[in-house]
Amino acid sequence: MVRRIGVLALQGDFAEHKKAIQGIGAEAVEVRLPQHLNGLDGLIIPGGESTTLRKLADMYNLMEPLRMFSQKYPTWGTCAGAIMLAKEIVGQEAHLGVMDITVQRNAFGRQINSFITTLDIEGDSYAAVFIRAPLIVSVRAGVDILATLEDGGIVAAQQGHLLATSFHPELTDDLGFHRRFLKMIERYDYAQP
Ligand code: GLN
Repeated sequence: MVRRIGVLALQGDFAEHKKAIQGIGAEAVEVRLPQHLNGLDGLIIPGGESTTLRKLADMYNLMEPLRMFSQKYPTWGTCAGAIMLAKEIVGQEAHLGVMDITVQRNAFGRQINSFITTLDIEGDSYAAVFIRAPLIVSVRAGVDILATLEDGGIVAAQQGHLLATSFHPELTDDLGFHRRFLKMIERYDYAQP
């Protein structure tokens, strides 16, 4: 069965996610209006600029539909997308506020706004690109920490059907993280009544 994975296509690097979704043999659907969420198996909220994403989501009346979708179905936020999902953002109001994590925007300082590294998660290694990335500064009960940097900073976390990464797997040729999300979707099917 070919899965339908939506990508919020308001702003940011949604085209790269779309390519990666197609690369793992799933169908990619661009989400710009509430009705585009109908019939999706999962959703990716891409990187970009969270403040801009929020403004556009308000303009298109997408905030409540996105909140309802992400409360129920597999949703993955990369970078600005992770900021959108967080229940707490240091120093400002939350956006969707569905995932029990606290994020700090632009947490890596001016000198090293961007860098590439390799992360080990459950025995597999993944290429990870950080661009003016947020840090997950804390997680609450029920959230699994998937990846940390050498200094212990949390950069990937999962809470049931919700996934947040500080980095951008879609900007590399490594489709591993998208495969991981697809597995989450497939596992989620079994969990449904
Ligand atoms: N710095 C951006 C923000 O705060 C996120 C950067 C990104 O998505 N690459 O929204």
